[in-house]
Amino acid sequence: MTTPIPRPPGLWRAIARDSRLNPEEAAARAAVTATQAELEPPTAAPPLPEDDPINWPVERRLAPYQSRIERAGWKAVLVVGEDRARLDGFHADGAAVMLTAMRGRKVYVYVLPPTGRKTPRWRAVNASTLEDFLRRRKIRGFHYPVSGCTCTKRRYPTEATAKAAIVDITIRRVVKEHGIQSERRVYRCPDDDRAWHITHIPKWYSDDEPKQKTRTR
Ligand SMILES: [Zn+2]
Repeated sequence: MTTPIPRPPGLWRAIARDSRLNPEEAAARAAVTATQAELEPPTAAPPLPEDDPINWPVERRLAPYQSRIERAGWKAVLVVGEDRARLDGFHADGAAVMLTAMRGRKVYVYVLPPTGRKTPRWRAVNASTLEDFLRRRKIRGFHYPVSGCTCTKRRYPTEATAKAAIVDITIRRVVKEHGIQSERRVYRCPDDDRAWHITHIPKWYSDDEPKQKTRTR
């Protein structure tokens, strides 16, 4: 036996046609929205630490940034190691942000412009400009960070751009333009979080842990 589908009470129908409320409905609606506001108060983003307590647990130092990334509608991924944590943020258009916190050092903030025709480059920015980039993809004041990567391989800024290169190579292999190229896997550079490489060698270590020895500038 099926239960009848509950019909919306008059008030909710009235809310649906918001512009034509009679005075009683308007009063009832105001009461309901007031109650709702009380139940779900608008949450303010936790303030960014003004002076970053460099000896706090690394995860706690990145928490306010994670909340900002998520509130801006980006996907946030936090990886926490013992003395180092990395927070990645991804936007659907290919833009990305990355923050690293190490015990005893300030939080470093990097942004990657949306993917265009050219391969974008990571830029180091001030933490205070992160919000602007998350909302408007605008970059104010930056420098290109020095990479710790000493590999002789081509660097890709993100996993997605490295994977796109693999797809390209695979297509070319299939059409036999480059018969000897056989890269199949992407990995994050052990010496630079902002560099990804591609390889034909099967996986031999985990990329999941942030590298303790990484030089993060
Ligand atoms: Zn490398």
